[in-house]
Amino acid sequence: MVGPNADSPNSALLDTFGRVHNNLRISVTDRCNLRCIYCMPEDVTFMDRGELLSFEEIAHFVRVVAPLGIDKLRLTGGEPLMRRDLHKLVAMLVEVPGIKDVSLTTNGLLLAAQAQLLYDAGLRRLNLSLDTLDAERFKVLTRRDGLEETLVGLAAAKARGFHVKINAVAIRGFIELDAVPLARYCRDHGFELRFIEYMPIGAESWERKKVFYAHELMDLLEREIAPLAPSPNYDPRAPAMDFLYADGVGSVGFIASVSRPFCKSCNRIRLTADGKLRHCLFALEETDIKPMLRDQRDDERLTEAVRQTVWSKWEGHEINSALFVKPQRTMHAIGG
Ligand code: SAM
Repeated sequence: MVGPNADSPNSALLDTFGRVHNNLRISVTDRCNLRCIYCMPEDVTFMDRGELLSFEEIAHFVRVVAPLGIDKLRLTGGEPLMRRDLHKLVAMLVEVPGIKDVSLTTNGLLLAAQAQLLYDAGLRRLNLSLDTLDAERFKVLTRRDGLEETLVGLAAAKARGFHVKINAVAIRGFIELDAVPLARYCRDHGFELRFIEYMPIGAESWERKKVFYAHELMDLLEREIAPLAPSPNYDPRAPAMDFLYADGVGSVGFIASVSRPFCKSCNRIRLTADGKLRHCLFALEETDIKPMLRDQRDDERLTEAVRQTVWSKWEGHEINSALFVKPQRTMHAIGG
């Protein structure tokens, strides 16, 4: 094969390592109502609103990539609930033929007000980011107040019937104090908890020694709560390693992006709020697809650009090698 799907133009989105891509993360804004220290700078210049893809442009993109095999979408940001009328975008996306799953990642601050609208629009799954149940540490980590609103948002989502997962970033010096209370809270309330190893994608300087590793978290939870056994649907290629507590109460997952990268089975591409397509969170190059959506409306060129972007995907993120170069954009401007 000499190029992306050169001998089979209608086939799936393949890269040169044979990975098939069916998963698209869509950032709808880089704005956020928190300033998490591991994610973004305190002094930040946000994108001009005119730079952001409109809902119609995003939906058009999804209509173009769905026939290429994209069937799973996640809306993110910045804080996606800061984008006005997000539920209208959800309603547009769930209608696209071929799309099987639409989910949302949020910090939950604005969730109480929007849970019903999002549910009515067809959203059923959301991931809520929550690193601590301690109001003071919440303020240190996010540089803002907001724990109470987050918990109210979480309760609203649960009451509305969403399937909710909670994500916590594992940073040494913080998570040792928060992991057990978070795990107990999630067990008590029936939420799936997942820990994500701290990655070098934020504004502050990342150091390996600040990563609290998945195996350390497992030791901690086993010691303080209950032994863990791999869940029956444990998939060694999936980003999250899922475990059940041996006492039968709940589950917990670990996304070991640093200590156990899952690049070999990566199936994701990412669209930034300003219309740049990325084949990896850590990509150093991106494809500007906005002109193809906005000015020229050229679906053939757009399809070709998507295929080329996927085709150019690297083998892995290289965090653990001397080759690693941190991307210019921080997480909030890519979409986590
Ligand atoms: N504002 C939304 C939220 O808080 O979920 C969506 C965007 S946020 C960038 C998405 C996820 O990225 C959050 O779960 C956040 O904790 C995670 N994240 C941000 N920076 C990270 C880092 N340096 N390492 C690991 N995860 C990170």
